[in-house]
Amino acid sequence: MIVGIDLGTTNSLIAYFTEEGPKIIPNRLGKNLTPSVVSVDEEGNVYVGETARERKSLYPDSVAETFKRSMGTERDYVLGGKHFKPEELSSLVLRSLKEDAEHYLGEEVTEAVISVPAYFDDKRRKATKRAGELAGLKVERMISEPTAAAVAYGLYDKTQDTRFLVFDLGGGTFDVSVLELYHNILEVRAVAGDNYLGGEDFTEVMARLFLQKAKLQLQNLSEKEQVRLYRQAEKAKYDISDRQQVTMSFLHGEEQIEETIQYKEYEEACEELLQKIREPVKKSLADAKLKLGDIDEVLLIGGATRLSIVRDFLIRLFRKFPDTRMNPDETVALGAAVQAAMKERRAEVREVILTDVCSFTLGTEVVVEYEEGRFEDGRFCPIIERNTVIPASHTERLYTVRDNQDKVRVRVLQGESRFARNNLYLGELEIDIPKGPKGQEAVDVTYTYDINSLLEVEVTVVSTGQKQKLIIKGQENQMTEEEIAKRMEELAYLKIQPRDFEENRLVLLRAERMYEEALGDRRKKLDRYITAFEAALKRGGHDEIEAAREELNEILEEED
Ligand code: AMP
Repeated sequence: MIVGIDLGTTNSLIAYFTEEGPKIIPNRLGKNLTPSVVSVDEEGNVYVGETARERKSLYPDSVAETFKRSMGTERDYVLGGKHFKPEELSSLVLRSLKEDAEHYLGEEVTEAVISVPAYFDDKRRKATKRAGELAGLKVERMISEPTAAAVAYGLYDKTQDTRFLVFDLGGGTFDVSVLELYHNILEVRAVAGDNYLGGEDFTEVMARLFLQKAKLQLQNLSEKEQVRLYRQAEKAKYDISDRQQVTMSFLHGEEQIEETIQYKEYEEACEELLQKIREPVKKSLADAKLKLGDIDEVLLIGGATRLSIVRDFLIRLFRKFPDTRMNPDETVALGAAVQAAMKERRAEVREVILTDVCSFTLGTEVVVEYEEGRFEDGRFCPIIERNTVIPASHTERLYTVRDNQDKVRVRVLQGESRFARNNLYLGELEIDIPKGPKGQEAVDVTYTYDINSLLEVEVTVVSTGQKQKLIIKGQENQMTEEEIAKRMEELAYLKIQPRDFEENRLVLLRAERMYEEALGDRRKKLDRYITAFEAALKRGGHDEIEAAREELNEILEEED
């Protein structure tokens, strides 16, 4: 079975294709969303998802989140005294999703289509693929998130050519993609975004508003109080979308503080964030050479697009209502499952060609003559520009800059700076050329970049036709199959907590956290129910445990 996975910054989902279309597979707690949070304790027990998130207030040092942002880097996370790279933490999330799917489907899951942000460069895509492999999943195809969204909305099935914009505001990232459906090809025309803008910033605004009203300083709150404040602020942010005001209540030391925040007030405080949203929208349209009015449909994905402040802003900007038929959290995973079905060549889905764009510029270093006889070296000459649809092939002709020059060296670089030194070095090649006066001899440098992130560089001497070729397959940070197998073994000691106990554990963690937050009678009441539940756990009768858990759960729902 091939599944589709949305490995998100905040939440991850797994989906499969059924006769009625793609479907999300619920996790061991019966929920569709699994928070992309991992916690490891000193004994090597791994907690993934909600349980890991719940451990954050009690054991903040054992929990990692938003590691997708560091994918493809060597960032080191230390949890429970052990070291992890971002892709390894991601592999633990994938392992948990895979187990849930296998349990639900009653068959082995061996392969997955995983979605990645359209702007993910080769290094980050490779890291995502390795995360899959470390989790025991073959990942032959990746799909970019906006394409997955378009596929889930069924837009690939349209008969008319359509231009649409996918607006993706997640927890910590913001991506805009302009796509075009042209005949049978679904093409990403341009992508833009802001890696440091997302729903969390809207939570931050809410928290700051509260602090301001309550005349409190963030730095005067304990670490646990800060975690709690943000949790309350997030709740208030959810609630404000369908009402005029929200009341936030927060326990500071011994004092319970309540403040009311008006919708208008919150909207004004978010104005700066809304302006920040405008920039990538403008940039992606400019790169795609389109105007706001050329967009036929606007699709919303990412949890933060549920904010009515954001929706209102988009209606004003595009002068049209965005398409919100689907649950913005689930769209990408469903699209990935459709892509999995396309890969399996299932009869129910029409295969469409999905293209992608190169999210960075590829070029070479050149010497420029900025005035007669005066040269400046170290300049960058773009060959394949950012947001070019791939596969793509472009040629640039470069002339000799010195008399009797007998060699040309082509350094292959990736990046956006005018200066070669600021861009990423990928490799180089050298070719001999006949001597002659400067400017007489020339080479054609052709870059061909394909959908699997293979860059082929070909240099041809114009006068002699002599050629040299270089193939760059992704970059450093490669792991061989043996290395992956070895690391898999090393990670194998980590035990993802058995499914059966997950609900009990989550309830207890939540109860412990609330006990710490509560005072007086509330605390006593919680203690009574926790003790009853623990006693039931010790006695071990299945029905009794379930009944006690339900009871405790009800209290927690009431009190949280
Ligand atoms: P994602 O990364 O797509 O899962 O998005 C997560 C972000 O969406 C977080 O910042 C959440 O606070 C936010 N979010 C989820 N549901 C809502 C909602 N109903 N209203 C406002 N924000 C939400």
